[in-house]
Amino acid sequence: MTGATLESFNPATGARIGAVALTAPERVQAVVESVAQVQPLWALLTLADRARYLERAGQVLIDEGDEIRDLIVAEQGKPRIEAFAMELLPAIDALRWIGRAGIRVLADEKIPMSQLFLKTKRSAFTYEPLGVIGVISPWNYPWSIPFVEVALALMAGNGVVLKPASLTPLLGERIGRAFERAGVPEGLVRVIHGPGTGAALVRSGIAKVFFTGSVRTGRGVGQECASRLKGSVLELGGKDPMIVLPDAKLDHAVAGALWGGFANAGQTCSGIERVYVMREVAERFVAGVVAGARRLRVGDPMAWDTEIGPMASREQFELVAELVDDAVASGATLCCGGPVAAPAGCAAGAFYAPAVLTEVTHEMRIMRAEVFGPVLPIVVVDSEDEALALANDCDFGLGASVWTSDRSKGERFARELQSGMVWINDHMFSHGACQCSWGGVKQSGLGRTHSKFGLYECVNVKLRVWEPSAVRDAWWHPYDETLGRALRHSATILYGRPSIRAGALRQGIGPLLRVGGRLARDALRR
Ligand code: NAD
Repeated sequence: MTGATLESFNPATGARIGAVALTAPERVQAVVESVAQVQPLWALLTLADRARYLERAGQVLIDEGDEIRDLIVAEQGKPRIEAFAMELLPAIDALRWIGRAGIRVLADEKIPMSQLFLKTKRSAFTYEPLGVIGVISPWNYPWSIPFVEVALALMAGNGVVLKPASLTPLLGERIGRAFERAGVPEGLVRVIHGPGTGAALVRSGIAKVFFTGSVRTGRGVGQECASRLKGSVLELGGKDPMIVLPDAKLDHAVAGALWGGFANAGQTCSGIERVYVMREVAERFVAGVVAGARRLRVGDPMAWDTEIGPMASREQFELVAELVDDAVASGATLCCGGPVAAPAGCAAGAFYAPAVLTEVTHEMRIMRAEVFGPVLPIVVVDSEDEALALANDCDFGLGASVWTSDRSKGERFARELQSGMVWINDHMFSHGACQCSWGGVKQSGLGRTHSKFGLYECVNVKLRVWEPSAVRDAWWHPYDETLGRALRHSATILYGRPSIRAGALRQGIGPLLRVGGRLARDALRR
């Protein structure tokens, strides 16, 4: 940071790639207010019109795709293929889904009023924008996470203030620009940067916060929002388990472990952080994963064939190295991987070759804390129950996977695994499919993004009821014993066991007719 700018550096080369203007925390409220001026106009658009803007944003991403992909590589360090496959493509696809599904999900929705005594009323859910939504995002997926959250908020008629991570400010700016280029009203999406601005955004008049980041910060954000009686969606850390059963297609499981554990150099909230493999196939599985990990190409993220780029920051590298060293000191075996020299042209990069650990125990820190690096600790288990118990013995509950050829067994595991998402024979891909919900349980967070539930998080669900006023409600004044008996007997007639209904009708017919008569006379007088 220098003066009033926040500079951005390439984690591989160390080159300065740009700078953005810092926002003073005390200016954040004014930014929120400026978006609030524009948002009501946007909210007047029909859902179909908003969807058209999102389609246009998709075209902007297609047109500028190469440039944005390379900016993701330059600012965050993931390999080019991942920058496209895990960041840009999911955002392009999400824009289409949000536009098309949003028209249906957010349309007024008729509510059947099947109760005899409510038959006259015409009810509907309506989905109103909340106003201005705050999106606070991390550095590990600096494009797809904030971009899709902004798009969901816009589809629901909101304005947005985005606070990107301080390691990836240029991408945050570029997100704002993409929506501007798509023609959304100027000032509907504003981007703020710098120390203290995230906290200031939470304290501001923002209607709701979508926060993605660490448990520690997220807990504070959630508490601050709760004290102000506003909502928050918290997408926090993970410690995803992968369970490999003996009947799994082993080559598929090995390839899945390599991708799920090492994509984005393991800096993925829902990356595989623990593997539980059944003893029958453990030797072959470990051998496959170690051989595969050694084959992964660590290098310049700009090269098309690089599979592991630099860690996004030296601090992250140090955290990973420390946790692996601690595990080895506690008795784990490092089968492959660890710190490696930076490749030519990437002298500033902190590179960590994919590591596979065996002989790990559940007491080790590496099995408890989020590693957020290219490390796969593998535990051999003797039964399915042991695998399940160990997988669930965790403070986090974001994603989990089970690998088996037996679908019903996989689905049983899916029911019993304590997490927000379970994939059978795959891992984490569904962040890139916006129709699927995203979010965790336990310390992994609260609420959901993506899917219809993510759209519902962006609205006030308002109930609207029309009563044609032809007749008074039966339970209105005046109160008397006749009304009391009529109510009591009608409950039994409508909801009671068949054997007691006839008796209730005999006893209740008198009060019911008298109340019915009163209502009819009242109706005739109108
Ligand atoms: P972080 O908590 O340090 O920062 C996240 C964002 O919050 C940044 O933009 C930061 O500037 C901002 N921030 C910092 N202090 C704040 C405050 N007091 N109030 C409001 N905002 C504040 O997290 P990080 O290191 O950037 O991201 C890594 C973490 O994010 C990992 O734990 C990872 O698992 C998690 N993550 C979760 C998901 C998910 O979907 N569940 C996705 C990606 C990352």
